[in-house]
Amino acid sequence: MVDIHLCQPDSTKSCAACCGIYNYVENTKPALLKRFEYRDALFSKVKAGELSLDGYRDIVRHREDGRRIFKTIYSCEFAGFVDGEKKRVGCMLHPMVTGGCDLRVHSFYGREICDGHFCPSYQKLASNEASIVLLCIDDWYLYGSVVTDIDFVKTFFTIVQNSVGEEISPAVVKSAPRLAETLKSYFSLKVAWPFRDTAKPRFGKYYFVGEEYDIDRIDYRRLGARVPAYDPIYLSLSSFFRTKDDLDRAHTKIDTLIKGFCDEYGKARNGHH
Ligand code: SF4
Ligand code: SF4
Repeated sequence: MVDIHLCQPDSTKSCAACCGIYNYVENTKPALLKRFEYRDALFSKVKAGELSLDGYRDIVRHREDGRRIFKTIYSCEFAGFVDGEKKRVGCMLHPMVTGGCDLRVHSFYGREICDGHFCPSYQKLASNEASIVLLCIDDWYLYGSVVTDIDFVKTFFTIVQNSVGEEISPAVVKSAPRLAETLKSYFSLKVAWPFRDTAKPRFGKYYFVGEEYDIDRIDYRRLGARVPAYDPIYLSLSSFFRTKDDLDRAHTKIDTLIKGFCDEYGKARNGHH
């Protein structure tokens, strides 16, 4: 369980995944940036008293591409930038953003649900795992993708901790830039994975067909391989391997990062103590 505020942890990044921002069919970073720039300009009219909240909502619904990957999950029109520098995303109706007035009562879920929601990452991530994710990522788009993918984070830490024989220390990671770089390369696979399954809508290991969702399974038998230790990582990365050669290349990528991290950690730990 983490004791860090994962939603708005610091001034360089934040998450709005549960407000449905990744649930748009157009959910690349450039597409979301464009969407939030538009909302930012429109919402400034609400702040200036030139537009009502209902007016804002109507315009967003008519002007934006509202198609969603999983229709059961709502994508809220009030998610957007919550700082002047446009580094953090979150709820534009939150009192910290409006300057005191809690306007979430006007939202689809309502104030109580929005206020009381803490996603499973709060329970499932360990403190050191969450701290290290925070240390290594300074981009809202990547941060929200990673911090909500529990398998992706925990599988990495489980494997490296078993290998180095102790819990990975945020202080050691902080003391060695190459460790943070390796972790950033691993986390960045969430947005740049060459074996991503593009045939169906996916969030990590989940895939969607209409109103239904299921957890994907990679058919390793078809590839003439056993289920590998990195299977949870491949699923989190929404992988599809056409051939055994694809699987081998994926293995090399992950293995190089994991082994590189463990080697470097051993050296950094000795220097740190
Ligand atoms: S998905 Fe989790 S970390 Fe992200 S905003 Fe929602 S509750 Fe916070
Ligand atoms: S109103 Fe609720 S769902 Fe909408 S952006 Fe705010 S917190 Fe997210």
